Amino acid sequence: MMATHPFLAGGPARQQDKDIVNVEAAQKPKLTVRLCEPRGFCAGVDRAIQIVVLALKKYGAPVYVRHEIVHNKYVVEGLRNMGAVFVKELDNIPDDGQPVVFSAHGVPKSVPAEAERREMLYLDATCPLVSKVHKQAMRHVRLGRHVLLVGHRGHPEVIGTMGQLPEGTVHLIETEEDVAAFEPVDADALGFVTQTTLSVDDTAGILAALGAKFPNLQAPSSESICYATTNRQDAVKAAAAGTDLFLIVGAPNSSNSRRLVEVAERAGAARALLVQGRAEVPIDDVSGGQTLGMSAGASAPEILTDDILNALRERFDVTLELVQTAVEDENFPVMRAIRDVPLTQDDMAFVNGQARLAPQRVA
Ligand code: SF4
Repeated sequence: MMATHPFLAGGPARQQDKDIVNVEAAQKPKLTVRLCEPRGFCAGVDRAIQIVVLALKKYGAPVYVRHEIVHNKYVVEGLRNMGAVFVKELDNIPDDGQPVVFSAHGVPKSVPAEAERREMLYLDATCPLVSKVHKQAMRHVRLGRHVLLVGHRGHPEVIGTMGQLPEGTVHLIETEEDVAAFEPVDADALGFVTQTTLSVDDTAGILAALGAKFPNLQAPSSESICYATTNRQDAVKAAAAGTDLFLIVGAPNSSNSRRLVEVAERAGAARALLVQGRAEVPIDDVSGGQTLGMSAGASAPEILTDDILNALRERFDVTLELVQTAVEDENFPVMRAIRDVPLTQDDMAFVNGQARLAPQRVA
């Protein structure tokens, strides 16, 4: 479905100003931008950022955050400016009574256990959909199954999921070659889960290989790849064919953003690039008459996408086409301990800009 994006709506009120804009537009080369919807923040990322913001309002600075709260430097910098202190491990936090927030990717069980041992006040911002995968993996183990976790080695979510399970009960599968190489003790006692942010198509290939090799492999009770990952990949697939360049706003360590680049290339974009902001857009490579695709990973703030669109409009007469493949209304509430703190649009303006309301909790 294509429609004009509200970004272009409005404009100068006076006829004189309209004429100036029209003359400028006539002089600029034309560019079509296909903007994907859904794009950008998912409910889990939004909730994690809200948790840090609300904790700062309730407890004051510093609020410690173990690892990047979400994989985006702009978000991390914004929160740091408000008083968040990012640490690698709990060992790096003094016993000063200030809270610590765990990131949206989830943590091994040993982390909250250590926080409790030290009587720390902790707020676990693990996305509820990651927690669901933890529960599915633990259920496999309870039923006597060895767990095959399909995911990327070293990703915090994978470390967190593996860290839910007893030693020796989980095996990481990254590729179809890993499937071929894996020899279980009991091929009839296997269950799988996946990382939430994988490529839907690649994962289907790996799961088909697993199913062919281990016919009694047990699936989790519901899909592990989350709605936000699937929706963003579907929108990019719908927009990519015929684009000269496809920009994905996101960070190099963001799994779901990197998958969107791969999806765009496979679905027909001549070239796809991951960009963290306007400075990384190869604007000199863009020519009039071209068609650009744009989306943003689940941890990329809308304010960065808006800024890139503004950069393109400075140089081109941009026609914006919205490629919408789903409507998202998911909203994950923050934990009870900070629910009494009001969240305002201004609190979230550093990521959302002023043009967009954050979902439902904004007063
Ligand atoms: S990408 Fe999915 S699993 Fe990850 S934080 Fe967002 S909603 Fe949760």
